[in-house]
Amino acid sequence: MSLEFELPLFASIFILMLMIVYFSKRKINLIENKTYEIILIASFVSSLVDTAVHIFSSWHTLENLQNKYYYIVDFSNKIISSLYVVIFSCLLLYTLLISYKNIRENPKKAMIPLLIINIVFFLIIQFTHIEIFEIGYVRNVNGTTILLAYILVIILLLINLFITLKKLKKDDKRYYAVFLISLMLVLSIIFTRLFPGMIIYDVAFAMLCYIMYFTIENPDVKMLEEVKIAKDQAEKANQAKTEFLSSMSHEIRTPLNAIVGFSQALMEEDIPETAKEEAKDIMSASETLLDLVNSILDISKIEANKIEIIEKEYSFREMFDDLVSLTKARMGEKPLDFNVYYDSTIPPVLYGDNVRLKQIILNLLTNSVKYTKQGYIEFKVSSFKKDGVCRLIVSVEDSGIGIKKENIDRLFTKFERFDEKNTTIEGTGLGLAITQKLIDLMHGKIIVQSIHGKGSKFTVIVDQKIVEGKTSLEPVIENKSNVKVDLTTKRILLVDDNNLNIKVASRLLSTYKMQIDTCLSGFECIDKINAGEKYDLILLDDMMPKMSGVETLQKLKQMDSFNIPTVALTANAIAGMKEKYLADGFDDYLSKPIEKPELNRVIEKFLNK
Ligand code: ADP
Repeated sequence: MSLEFELPLFASIFILMLMIVYFSKRKINLIENKTYEIILIASFVSSLVDTAVHIFSSWHTLENLQNKYYYIVDFSNKIISSLYVVIFSCLLLYTLLISYKNIRENPKKAMIPLLIINIVFFLIIQFTHIEIFEIGYVRNVNGTTILLAYILVIILLLINLFITLKKLKKDDKRYYAVFLISLMLVLSIIFTRLFPGMIIYDVAFAMLCYIMYFTIENPDVKMLEEVKIAKDQAEKANQAKTEFLSSMSHEIRTPLNAIVGFSQALMEEDIPETAKEEAKDIMSASETLLDLVNSILDISKIEANKIEIIEKEYSFREMFDDLVSLTKARMGEKPLDFNVYYDSTIPPVLYGDNVRLKQIILNLLTNSVKYTKQGYIEFKVSSFKKDGVCRLIVSVEDSGIGIKKENIDRLFTKFERFDEKNTTIEGTGLGLAITQKLIDLMHGKIIVQSIHGKGSKFTVIVDQKIVEGKTSLEPVIENKSNVKVDLTTKRILLVDDNNLNIKVASRLLSTYKMQIDTCLSGFECIDKINAGEKYDLILLDDMMPKMSGVETLQKLKQMDSFNIPTVALTANAIAGMKEKYLADGFDDYLSKPIEKPELNRVIEKFLNK
């Protein structure tokens, strides 16, 4: 039995099945997909027409086919030849699309020449002839139409092979697939020329469609790839946003520094009471703005994975007392009962990131104060100890406005705020997002219970290591509000690249009546020390162009005789920065805007000896 029409018939059935699967799937509207769709349809139609021609020719004598029905055989073979050229052009277009970025961006560059080739071919073959012949029982065709089709198809295939071979080294499986397909088609052409009785090119086209589907054009694979690209792009955009926010926040701190500094200085002047009140308002507004900037810096650092958990020994009681007094200060005149409990069996010295833990708890306490008009706030710490680890269970409960059930899930999302009716309450919607991320970093847990209108309870659970055998840590130097010593003989050097910052700091320092020297870069600072200038303290800004504060300090420390206490002065003031600067070798740290009590503390520590 000859395989005259059976092979094209099988091929068309298989391609039809694939078409049903392919077109029923959700796809991305990509030019590569469209190209594949044309290949599918053209392969299907060509094998269908091929089947019909072979069936038709088997019903008639060779003579009839060559004379009476010549136009039918001629027309259908011209259609088939044109479709083959379409398929090979699409395959080449596909290769060009995946290989060259400029073609992917502007596909017309390849589509138009290929379209012209197809049209010209179709027009030319209208003037050519085909020959029908018989080998054994098999009828086949030849002639100029077929010859032209072969020549064009082989040229397209060779270009295709050339490009894929060039790109084959690339780690992209699509080239292997296209290369394999092109090679298979070349072999099928050679095979059909050698054995005209075996019409296998329809089968080859069916295989082409399947290989492309399973390796490169499977819509699912495509979808996943697209999703991955979209995800990468979103991540990049998020990163850019984070960097932008972070640098903006930093830029905002510099003018804020001047506002806070000068209002602080104004408040110490002998000015009318109303002006003092106004200066106080300016300061409080600037501090709110500063809180916002700090939160943005914090969240952007967390999102950029730039925050580390820095663990060290700390006194639990000290942290707890600090939290209590900070919250009391926040409460001010609010008619609230502040109930405080802590488990007295909590070991006095723990090991963990107390800076972050304090930030987390303070955030919950601050929220309670903000969102509770009257009633109570209960701050409770209990513990559970096992194998050298102390599990702290910290709860903050209030009788405030509460949170609606439907909002609880969105509580930890950035910039979400639910106090529509209380728009007067200041906030950014960042606090809990930061809290949640920090708790995650510490492998802890946070639980929220709330009844809208009645109150809320936030519970944080974190594990801290127990430092056995220690009952206390070295006492921390307390802040003092005023320095009452004669500093007129002391010399201080202020290094900052920003003139306004120098002005503010000098203004704040002027009240101490010491000798102030300034310079605008790390280089100048090093020159001064090299020239033998003597100082009792250096306040050194970190973020300076060309040479940062940290680099300047490293250079200073390389000098043999250098032993001047150096304090980092920086707008990079998010939690954890103090530890970083101490680790960099600074003796202490002052954040900008400089706060008077902090400045007092530093002066007291280094100059009041
Ligand atoms: P912020 O307080 O700056 O708005 P947060 O992220 O700390 O941002 O809180 C997000 C929102 O959750 C708040 O705007 C508020 O609507 C709600 N919320 C947080 N804590 C409480 C609380 N203790 N009582 C009532 N609502 C709260």
